[in-house]
Amino acid sequence: MKILIVEDEAKLARTLKQGLEQAGFVVDTADNGADGFDLASEGSYDVIVLDWMLPEMDGLTVCRNLRRQENLNTPILMLTAKNQVDDKTEGLDNGADDYLSKPFAFSELVARIKALARRKDKPLSTILKTDGLMINPQTMEASRYGQRINLTKKELALLEYLVKHKGQIVTKEQIITHVWPHDTDILPNTVEAYIGFLRKKIDKPFPNQIKLIETVRGFGYKIKHV
Ligand code: CA
Repeated sequence: MKILIVEDEAKLARTLKQGLEQAGFVVDTADNGADGFDLASEGSYDVIVLDWMLPEMDGLTVCRNLRRQENLNTPILMLTAKNQVDDKTEGLDNGADDYLSKPFAFSELVARIKALARRKDKPLSTILKTDGLMINPQTMEASRYGQRINLTKKELALLEYLVKHKGQIVTKEQIITHVWPHDTDILPNTVEAYIGFLRKKIDKPFPNQIKLIETVRGFGYKIKHV
């Protein structure tokens, strides 16, 4: 899952990014509302964590403007030092999906993010399945035919993205956009390398089963829809 944090307090933003990365998320940050709005508009995030008081464009305006974009319904979690009921209502009226008052416990933030992501992916439920393969993004566990598969965080993020789009062709560019942070220079070769790692773990140990990851030459990859 890919998260955008829009927060101008550098230390808090850094702490949240590190913590969320350890929890297995791919994380981008923006330190002002205008940059946050631009990144969020690309639509590659599963959840946006948005501070209320921000330079350039405040969180409420970012939220309102994002909600005006067609086909962009990324869940938004508003963060704020304000804790009056009126402010909460104002945030929700402007399109935020949830609200967390500072200071908050990190575990609370993670729980809210997961709940919002689940809401977004309702039809997929929490466990993703295809031909004996099961991925639980909440616990970061994967298995095929009951056999536990140990994946790195990046492999899990890639596999989760592929399985969410099973039956569809995804290009290397789409994979880079959804699985790597915005500010990293990733070449298509790196995607190929990670696809290779995944094949070794989810296809190679199961020679009698179908190969899940298919290369669609000239286009990208596809996970078989079973
Ligand atoms: Ca702030």
